[in-house]
Amino acid sequence: MPSPSGPFPDATLRGDAEVARLISEEVDRQSTTLQLIASENFTSPEVLAATGSVLTNKYAEGYPHRRYYGGNRVVDEVEELARERARSLFGAPHANVQPHAGANANLAVYMALLEPGDTVLAMRLDHGGHLTHGSPASITSKIWRFVSYGVTPASEDPSEAGEVIDFDQVADLAKREQPKLIVAGSTAYSRIIDPEPFREIADACGALFMFDMAHPAGLVAGGVHPSPVGVADVVTLTTHKTLRGPRGGAILCRADLAKAIDGAVFPGLQGGPLEHVIAAKAVAFAEAQEPAFRAYAARVVDNARALGAALAAEGFRLVSGGTDNHMLLVDLRPFDAHLTGKVAQEVLDRAGITCNRNTIPDDPRSPFVTSGLRLGSAAETTAGMGPEEMARIASLIMRTLRGRDDEAEVAAVRAEVRELCAAFPPYPGLVTGSGQ
Ligand SMILES: *Cc1c(COP(=O)(O)O)cnc(C)c1O
Repeated sequence: MPSPSGPFPDATLRGDAEVARLISEEVDRQSTTLQLIASENFTSPEVLAATGSVLTNKYAEGYPHRRYYGGNRVVDEVEELARERARSLFGAPHANVQPHAGANANLAVYMALLEPGDTVLAMRLDHGGHLTHGSPASITSKIWRFVSYGVTPASEDPSEAGEVIDFDQVADLAKREQPKLIVAGSTAYSRIIDPEPFREIADACGALFMFDMAHPAGLVAGGVHPSPVGVADVVTLTTHKTLRGPRGGAILCRADLAKAIDGAVFPGLQGGPLEHVIAAKAVAFAEAQEPAFRAYAARVVDNARALGAALAAEGFRLVSGGTDNHMLLVDLRPFDAHLTGKVAQEVLDRAGITCNRNTIPDDPRSPFVTSGLRLGSAAETTAGMGPEEMARIASLIMRTLRGRDDEAEVAAVRAEVRELCAAFPPYPGLVTGSGQ
């Protein structure tokens, strides 16, 4: 680990005490509370260093060797390297590494492949689809016509899979609605999403197939989730979730779609690319190709399973009965019928356990209140935690929620969380502030 005076901004921000103080407080927060938000991770110091580099100064509208500004000799190499590493990591014919985020990547694909008004078949938002999969609040639903599939009902029989993608429904809707594009991918689905049945359904109705692997991209890179590359026509991803890179997006596609995709990203939707972030993406793609990352991806899944098993033993219900990835969707109702996701998230926050409330399939409560929590193992696995710590976290969650009206109990959990986090610092080289 580099010393704190290296890539970390707090040491070089002495000229701006206010921002320096805020960053130092955030270092402290990340180091002394548990990070269980399924879409978060801890990047390497190398990723942080690239993100904080002078590459941020360069304007580079266009693509390598086809730019609208001078002085791009170096950033051309940076972006070429990132594209090459993305292609090699995922075995894709073409990569666009410019999308500023996952949402931009999805929009670019729609723009490249669809005309306004075209029909898209994607996952229901209240069953785990993303905002960009046709939420009424998203511009996607104003430009294209979204039809949505969901998951099967919860199963009474524990030996039967319930709350899994309803492929009969996907096939029926595809036949009836004749979508131009079928989208797979979710923000809150704890099972493997097999790209093959989607491919068959898309072929049967003549639709294109996009796989949004924003969440499992790192698990795909690490070989513990089947790769949609080569099965789907286009694959979108974020680089900051399980892939553990900087905040950003990317698109992988067939060679014959490259021109349309590139044109939709720039000049279709974005201006100048963030070459400092693209450099950090290159770093992350290389890190994900290391054998250590395969081991990491496997540990992420083991840890999610351990956390899930321990929570189930405490009386929580796991949507779909468990997990195959980094994520758990927890139904709070069997644990305590009066406990909402909103109240749970707030009290867990006070105990130093950071997570988010989430709707569960067919949630009787509103998306703002919810009956569920979403938990993820990616970040704390990076920090070095294992199945034993996951069992301890489950017990801390149970104690916090049981004792939510008892300030002394919440404070006792907060102290234990602090002690647990101290044993697994995400950035051991970082000297944190006074602590809150
Ligand atoms: C996170 C996510 C996105 C969007 O990523 P942002 O970087 O937040 O824009 C898109 N699709 C899915 C399925 C996601 O989970």
